[in-house]
Amino acid sequence: MDLLTRTLEEVKGELGRHPDYRLHYAVKANFNPEILKLIASYGFGADCVSGGEVRAAVQAGFDPKDIVFAGVGKSDEEILYALGVGIGRFNAESTPELEVINELAASLGKTAQVSIRVNPDVGAHTHANITTGLAENKFGINYDILEDVIRYCLSLEHVELRGLHFHIGSQILEMDDFIALCNRINELSVNLSRHGLPVGDINVGGGLGINYQHPNHFPIANFAGYFDTFKKHLDVKPGTPVHFELGRSLVAPCGSLICRVLYVKQGTSRQFAIVDGSMTELIRPALYKAYHRIENLSSNEPEEIYDVVGPVCESSDVFVKAESIDKCHRGDFIAIRSAGAYGEAMASQYNLHPFPQSYYDWKR
Ligand SMILES: *Cc1c(COP(=O)(O)O)cnc(C)c1O
Repeated sequence: MDLLTRTLEEVKGELGRHPDYRLHYAVKANFNPEILKLIASYGFGADCVSGGEVRAAVQAGFDPKDIVFAGVGKSDEEILYALGVGIGRFNAESTPELEVINELAASLGKTAQVSIRVNPDVGAHTHANITTGLAENKFGINYDILEDVIRYCLSLEHVELRGLHFHIGSQILEMDDFIALCNRINELSVNLSRHGLPVGDINVGGGLGINYQHPNHFPIANFAGYFDTFKKHLDVKPGTPVHFELGRSLVAPCGSLICRVLYVKQGTSRQFAIVDGSMTELIRPALYKAYHRIENLSSNEPEEIYDVVGPVCESSDVFVKAESIDKCHRGDFIAIRSAGAYGEAMASQYNLHPFPQSYYDWKR
């Protein structure tokens, strides 16, 4: 069985142990239509951050009722489209956004189902550019003004407040970070209830990380440990739905960026393997200093030390520095592993490079 199917089966099995847990795949990680269709066929929902993603999710067969839509800057067109297809939830991130959703829903004679995205001011042990739950980040509503925003939301006629949404960041491997989130949610729920305000259901966002160092030893993320952490630490009334928005952990290990070595170049103190792939296909190393394991698929010769770099005219167009890789030659095929999330999805045409082509191989 291919890795994506094995991963989805594993997650389905874990969700079977937690009947109140609902998964919404974070479409932004990889929006390849075939992958979306496969994930939709498992009955999971979709987590979208643009109107384009909502459309792709609907087209792939996700039930609109199981689509949630987050993002700090939803345009009127996107909101109208999402209302039109009847998505299950807007995760609203500001008071002006609530006002606009209310007006647009009224114009269609509809009621929007809304959760308020709370900025929990909980850090995550991950790269600064991929933490989202700190007070300094642009996401969500600061919890010190949350009660006012909830009261405002309750006053709106075409908005129905259904729950609270959180998301603290991405590539999180320390369960302590999720425990901190649970503690914050528990504290907020108690406070809101004490003031007679509804809590509704809880969406804890995504962010479970994968092992980029050892993709062969740990091809499937620790879903059991992840869900059990929430089971143990999140206080919700039995029967309250808890929503999860996993992206990376479902798809990242399932894809590799395959490149060819163009040149092996000797520098003064280092040796470069210059490949035909670049930050235009996989920007994570340049953007987040992310590590991806690299393998030479064409060589079994003893390892040498290389900086593996792309051809783009940016000094940050480097996949890895000083990595031991089987000796490289012009024409060798190189696999840059764990590129299934935030790889093709973030591709650009900078330097007028063509977009990467994707190939998949699985049996339905
Ligand atoms: C990006 C994002 C996710 C998914 O994050 P992963 O780290 O890929 O699991 C979930 N929810 C929201 C709101 C996001 O922005």
